[in-house]
Amino acid sequence: MIVGIDLGTTNSLAGIFRNGKVELVPNVFGDYLTPSVVGLDDDGELIVGKLAKERLVTKPDLTVSQFKRFMGSKHPIQLGERTYQAEELSSFIIRKLIEDTERYTGEKVEEIIVSVPAYFNDAQRYATKLAGQYAGVKIDRIINEPSAASLAQKMNNEMEDQAFIVVDFGGGTLDISVVESFDNIVEILAIAGDNRLGGEDYTAAIAQEFLLVNDLNKDFISNEFYYKVLVESEKAKLTLNSQDEVQLSVADQDTQYDMTLSYKRFYEISQPLLARVKAVLDRALFDANHSHVHADDFVLVGGTSKLRLVQEFLSFCIGQAVTTTDDPDLMIAKGCALVAGIKERQGEVRDLLLSDICPFSLGVEVVGDKYSPIIERNSSLPSSRVERYYAQSLGQTQLRFNIYQGERMRASENLLLGSLVVDVPENYQDYEAADVRFTYDLNGILDVEVTVLSTGQVCSKIILQDSINLSEEEIAKKKAELEKYKINVQETEVYRYLIERADRLYSMILGVERENLMERTRFFEQEVAKASLPHLPKLYDEFSAYLDRLERGDRAYYER
Ligand code: ADP
Ligand code: MG
Repeated sequence: MIVGIDLGTTNSLAGIFRNGKVELVPNVFGDYLTPSVVGLDDDGELIVGKLAKERLVTKPDLTVSQFKRFMGSKHPIQLGERTYQAEELSSFIIRKLIEDTERYTGEKVEEIIVSVPAYFNDAQRYATKLAGQYAGVKIDRIINEPSAASLAQKMNNEMEDQAFIVVDFGGGTLDISVVESFDNIVEILAIAGDNRLGGEDYTAAIAQEFLLVNDLNKDFISNEFYYKVLVESEKAKLTLNSQDEVQLSVADQDTQYDMTLSYKRFYEISQPLLARVKAVLDRALFDANHSHVHADDFVLVGGTSKLRLVQEFLSFCIGQAVTTTDDPDLMIAKGCALVAGIKERQGEVRDLLLSDICPFSLGVEVVGDKYSPIIERNSSLPSSRVERYYAQSLGQTQLRFNIYQGERMRASENLLLGSLVVDVPENYQDYEAADVRFTYDLNGILDVEVTVLSTGQVCSKIILQDSINLSEEEIAKKKAELEKYKINVQETEVYRYLIERADRLYSMILGVERENLMERTRFFEQEVAKASLPHLPKLYDEFSAYLDRLERGDRAYYER
């Protein structure tokens, strides 16, 4: 079967298309969202998801998160004794989601559809494909996240004709697309984005304020302490959705640090981030030539679009109240599941067509650091265009093409994707010339073909930063190596999660509750170790409720 996967920076989820409709896949906790966190447990076994997330605070050296930000780069990510590439860690997430899906459906997963931020470049998309290959499945189709959300919206609206503005605001990225839908066609008109802006930045802004208020400096505190501050800041951020003020308090060693943060102050410290949201919105609307913006057109997806601050700011920008409708966390996965359904040619989704675009311009450098775009941003996919370029001096024996992505006038200010060099005959009478063809496929992967006019010689290449361009053998080798890492056993996972959670809470609280917590955790651990117990689910519920109360800071509560 084919599974649609929203492989997020913060959370990932899987969806399938069955019996004429989209179904999301619950994990062992019964949640649709699986945190994109990978860790090693005390036995060196892999843990993925909710359980691993709990250990971010208590075992920072054995846990990693947010690695999607490094997709397609050589950046090494330290986990335990070795380093990993983002695509290797992502393959563990994919494996986990596939296991969950196979458990849920009883069917074997052979192929996946994965969504990526529209702003992902070639290298990032290629790395995403690698992650799938490492996980042992085929990724035939990569789809832009906002486009997936658009498809889901089209389904939700029962195929009514509509124009909409999809704001996809996740943990690390923002994409805004303007979409038109008519009959069975969903057409993306324009996309604008910022792939360095997300919910984590709002959390970091609060953490920064916390340090400032407490006269602390990030460079001089332990990683562990900073994580605790981040966890507390994240909680505060969510609390401010429904309250006008929130208390933060974090303990380090035996000192307690505090801050009171008002919603108003949060708005103030978020100004630079909000200005960037506005810039992206303006660019998307401008590119789509979309002027009559109505609040009903907005489709908000991604966790950060649930931020009261973001909704109020968008409302302020257009002078009407913008709110979320459908569950913003699930839209992209639903869209991916729809694509899976389309691919499997199931029932009524068969005829749904998506017309997607390329969100950035692609071109080459010409002499003097000038940028010559070949495919302009917002061209529809697939797209193929050719331009002719001439040698600059007589007697030249090579033509070099530096390939860039971006919108800046100076070539060097854009993102260099790669280079291609072709030989030309040494000629002192005419200037040699070559045709450069850019072909951009449905997955957003670029193929460059250079034809030398005088000789007819053709040179073609999929452009990638050389770092991650792997051969089939290298991929197979890597896959075999990664397969040796087993993901932890499912049945005990929910119990282990509670113990990890208790451990994290223990590190955050002080005083008499600590002892109580320790005792209760020991007891729970012993009961779990006995493993044969019919009353474990009940114990689980009780212990879980107790931890919930602790987490809420319901400190007046004591038992036993
Ligand atoms: P990604 O697609 O990057 O995995 P998500 O769409 O899951 O990200 O969004 C994760 C981000 O959303 C996190 O930064 C989280 O803090 C934020 N978030 C989740 N729920 C809420 C909420 N109710 N209000 C505000 N922010 C939220
Ligand atoms: Mg997302």
